[in-house]
Amino acid sequence: MTPDNIPDYPKSPSMGQMMHQPMLISSIIQHADRHFGGKEIVSRRVEGDIHRYTYRDCHKRARQMANALEKLGVRMGDRVATLAWNGYRHLELYYAISGSGAVLHTINPRLHPEQIAYIADHAEDSYVFFDLTFLDLVKSLAAHSKTVKGYIAMTDRHRMPAASGIPNLMCYEDLIENSSDRYAWPVFDENSASTLCYTSGTTGNPKGVLYSHRSTILHAYASSLPDALNVSGREVLMPVVPMFHVNAWGFPYSAALAGAKLVLPGPMLDGQSLHELIEQEGVTASAGVPTVWHGLLHYVERKSLGFKSFRRIIIGGSACPPAMMKSFREKHNVELLHTWGMTEMSPLGTVCTLQNHHMHLPQTEQEAILQKQGHVIYGVDMKIVDDAGNELPWDGRTCGNLLVRGPWVLESYFKNGDSEPAQLLQDGWLPTGDVATIDADGYMQITDRSKDVIKSGGEWIGSIELENVAMAHPAVQQAACIGVFHPKWDERPLLVVVKKADAEVTRDELIDSFAGKVAKWWTPDDVVFVDALPVGATGKILKNEIRNRLRHHRLPTI
Ligand code: ADP
Repeated sequence: MTPDNIPDYPKSPSMGQMMHQPMLISSIIQHADRHFGGKEIVSRRVEGDIHRYTYRDCHKRARQMANALEKLGVRMGDRVATLAWNGYRHLELYYAISGSGAVLHTINPRLHPEQIAYIADHAEDSYVFFDLTFLDLVKSLAAHSKTVKGYIAMTDRHRMPAASGIPNLMCYEDLIENSSDRYAWPVFDENSASTLCYTSGTTGNPKGVLYSHRSTILHAYASSLPDALNVSGREVLMPVVPMFHVNAWGFPYSAALAGAKLVLPGPMLDGQSLHELIEQEGVTASAGVPTVWHGLLHYVERKSLGFKSFRRIIIGGSACPPAMMKSFREKHNVELLHTWGMTEMSPLGTVCTLQNHHMHLPQTEQEAILQKQGHVIYGVDMKIVDDAGNELPWDGRTCGNLLVRGPWVLESYFKNGDSEPAQLLQDGWLPTGDVATIDADGYMQITDRSKDVIKSGGEWIGSIELENVAMAHPAVQQAACIGVFHPKWDERPLLVVVKKADAEVTRDELIDSFAGKVAKWWTPDDVVFVDALPVGATGKILKNEIRNRLRHHRLPTI
């Protein structure tokens, strides 16, 4: 079965060549079992305890689960949803569902229950697997869903919740126990759908992004490269980025492909829990959004702790504050690797590592490069364009709309295939909604999301740079910069700040701290202190909500 949107390329006559083996997700877990079978997978369970087993055990249970799915009547292409944290059962489902030809639909449980109901309906999910933490969510979903035939609690018999308004409630461990581990992974077209993930829908309804086996495997290969996420068999990897958000940036696949020990932190993502797990399991590298690393940094500094084996943090999802990069490196000998991508890109687009001609540069210049979002990895191409679509120069100064393309980049959203591509893609390129510069070496730097750009007197002010300056102030824990109305300039920057506990700083001191760091006219006109910034379902600061709350703020410069 070839999807209709794949053009029929000319085929070369056979002259005797390589084997034709479709790239299928099941091949990754088969490889991990056969070649790294004894490597560990350690999970902090929802119950709070630590569970450990191996890739071999994971493969066995994934085969049992694949048999169970078959008995439940799940067929090729059917969507099967999960509402679950990073844990071994979720990993088994990653392989069992996609490997058997069905589509794994990871639902973000942090979305609003109404959005979850919308998503499950839109995806036409046939079954929903859930961690016990999400029992209430599942009850409300069950009351509305038109397509879900049954719900599976990811637990054992003793912890099963009382049947409580959830139709056809089943027990995960019972399904495993009652199923044989004799299962031959089916072979099918590598372009078949494997996984479905919805965007967080900060504007409008969430949109479905459907990955294929081929796109997933290509992404896993490419993301493992040394100048990408450098996934190797010597790493102990702890993806903090949730398995319900863009496949945990591909780590469930790339770790198995490389034979890395995998540590899955479950629901406890606070600084203390992460630090404990890092130290106990000898974690060498982890990945997640900046808010998580704020929590960890804050915890180790408060408790005067260090790290034994922890060397690398892969950070993305939002801009990495340079001050945090500096603290981790200088105080803890942990390097922050800045990456950029989006759900629509599986997610990886760029990673920031140095080239050999950068190695002789002074440290401050190297640091300035490493703060950028980085270089594309092979497989992704990018360009910046003006509003008329003309390509802009790679001079490190000119800002433009960032466009991307590649074999793991979205062509059209799930179920919108017939009508959308013409509007969505621009000459075969996907607009990212980000505004960026690219320098002569091909290093991209995001200056803003297009909807967050501050427009002052017809010129753009990049809010990320202003936030980075504010975050470098010792009294600032978090900062967001938004544009607010100004009668002369249309918009002027307003800085919204959360102070560190016990730290003091005034509005004027903060405004003065911008002197010499940004163009004078970029300096924020005012500062508002708040207790916390609103954060969305993927851990990102919700600028539109801040704009809403402060839309009547009157600047002192008016
Ligand atoms: P959502 O579902 O919230 O859109 P995504 O993870 O798909 O979640 O968000 C992608 C967007 O996140 C990008 O288009 C970009 O705006 C932002 N982003 C991701 N990584 C970075 C980064 N390193 N620096 C700045 N922005 C980033």
